[in-house]
Amino acid sequence: MRTERAGAELVIDLDAIAANWRALRDRVAPGVGSAAVVKADAYGLGVGPVARALAAAGCTAFFVATPDEGAALRRVVPEATILVLHGVPPRAEGFLARHRLVPVVNDLGELERWRRRAATAGGGDAVLHLDTGLNRLGIPPEDSQRLIDRPELVRGLRVTWMSHLACADEPGHPMNAEQLRRFRVLLGRLPAGPATLAASAGVLLGPAYHFDLVRPGYALYGGNPVAGAPAMRPVVRLSARILQVRRVDTPGSVGYGAAHRVTGARNIATVPVGYADGFLRSLGGRGSAVIDGWRAPVVGRISMDLTTIDVSGIPSERARPGAVVELIGETRTVEAVATDAGTIGYEILTALGRRYPRHYVGGTVAA
Ligand SMILES: *Cc1c(COP(=O)(O)O)cnc(C)c1O
Repeated sequence: MRTERAGAELVIDLDAIAANWRALRDRVAPGVGSAAVVKADAYGLGVGPVARALAAAGCTAFFVATPDEGAALRRVVPEATILVLHGVPPRAEGFLARHRLVPVVNDLGELERWRRRAATAGGGDAVLHLDTGLNRLGIPPEDSQRLIDRPELVRGLRVTWMSHLACADEPGHPMNAEQLRRFRVLLGRLPAGPATLAASAGVLLGPAYHFDLVRPGYALYGGNPVAGAPAMRPVVRLSARILQVRRVDTPGSVGYGAAHRVTGARNIATVPVGYADGFLRSLGGRGSAVIDGWRAPVVGRISMDLTTIDVSGIPSERARPGAVVELIGETRTVEAVATDAGTIGYEILTALGRRYPRHYVGGTVAA
């Protein structure tokens, strides 16, 4: 904790992000590229420092969700390839071209608009997203067939073929092999071009899923998308200082709704992090925190700005006002917090609030 004034702080380890990117890159064959997905402000961790650290580690291609995210990222990594997952919004062709953004094209109308633009500009790049079963975004099978029948629809474009897996976090799920099969069949019939299928979990499915480019996001940020796979290096530490410790005895309760009733005398510590900081309200009565290696369960409801933890089992000289409580970190992993909250680690990361100071450690380029 650097700032006594700040009750809570978020530390983001840029060296760990770079190490996670290298660890995934080392799982793919030498000729296979490793991009980084940095949509949603690099999963809530800050796209500026994160992309700079990844570029310094050797990453040259970045995926974002929207054209605006792409334009913001262009200022951070002037030379990199930036790919925009949400495609070519109406009349956005000029914007994409001006910021040198490569759209991930999701339907044939977008394709035609982007191809016309590329024709006047003397060529262009596009990623064509083929839906192989996710049924969320991408070119549906009947339109993929039209591309097979009419290869002139992509003439003049340098095309990379993409698809996205629905169940990669469950390695044994039959959908993985089925989507892989469908993707391969399409690639065998479409005009030749490099291909990309795997996000974080897909990288762990093995080389058959790697094709020419992998595009992990979550694992870079310390997430472990597949249970039992080798752990990624933790990246995020959310900690807070205890504001107050109260002795509560029966008959008494803690917090809104009197939702937590004490049984016997308990020591309750209050920390300045709440659901407005991304410490989800569903963690009320279910989450936990760690003080000097001692676990303290979250009791009562999470408030907007405050959380109460039961520190009765912890020596009072440790669980005292000003003591540092870890809410997310090496001892409270993103996955553990997500499990307590009934969600996934992705939501924990992207919900992290904007109120506390963020400290970036590591990184070869100043943040
Ligand atoms: C978000 C996203 C990724 C990255 O997924 P992770 O599970 O975070 O690695 C890759 N590809 C597409 C199409 C995505 O939407």
